[in-house]
Amino acid sequence: MFHMVISFCILFVSFIAFKIQALSKSGALASSFVGASIYLGFGIKGLALLGIFFVTSSLWSKFKAKQKKVIEEKLEKGSQRDWVQVFANGGVAAITSLIFYYTNDMIWEIAFLISMASATGDTWSSEIGPLSKTNPISIKNFNKVPAGTSGAISMLGTIGALSGVLLITIIGYILFPIHFKIALFVLLFGIVGNGIDTILGAFYQRSFCCKVCHMEMERSTHCGEPARLKSGEKWLTNDGVNFLSCLGAPVLALIFLM
Ligand SMILES: [Zn+2]
Repeated sequence: MFHMVISFCILFVSFIAFKIQALSKSGALASSFVGASIYLGFGIKGLALLGIFFVTSSLWSKFKAKQKKVIEEKLEKGSQRDWVQVFANGGVAAITSLIFYYTNDMIWEIAFLISMASATGDTWSSEIGPLSKTNPISIKNFNKVPAGTSGAISMLGTIGALSGVLLITIIGYILFPIHFKIALFVLLFGIVGNGIDTILGAFYQRSFCCKVCHMEMERSTHCGEPARLKSGEKWLTNDGVNFLSCLGAPVLALIFLM
């Protein structure tokens, strides 16, 4: 009975997120799947962590949204998240939850926490960083680049990333039966995940240049024309980078633990 109520709640929250346009229809379906998987693996405490990620990310995305409009223009997608974005951020958390459900091995709990910490840091930094008054610095050549450029870092964005990772680590430490040392380990690899995100974003994520207005951007079309690939790998989108960093951080952590 209790499980049914929770399942209903997961569907209901996804539906509300769809109604307030935080998620597209496919995004709402995907988040129901992610929510159900996490509930199966980690119960209410897993859902609480997912809820914190989801609510804070949505709030940050609405925060000073007007100021971020210019940057949104360069992005592939708007603030309404679709299934690819949901799986890019929550897919690894869902998979580790399912593996934990079947194995009951604590390493999957650690992997889950790291993936959630990494996803939260990534999302916070990309919502908070663009509000920086100074332009970010590209880690490729340490030049100042326009706000919203992938692989560029600003003080504000970095503080955003660290705060997101720290929040998930603290809540994870409170809710999950983990040792303090493990919490530090989650914190460290959550930060590693954000580092992976920045490096992949700078060197491998695809970026385009509009043939008409010459704007550099993540979108592959602009001004009604297909844009020219400027740098990066054609297949590696921003969602791909998010997925790889949410996957890479726990993988590195598990290698370290072996
Ligand atoms: Zn254009």
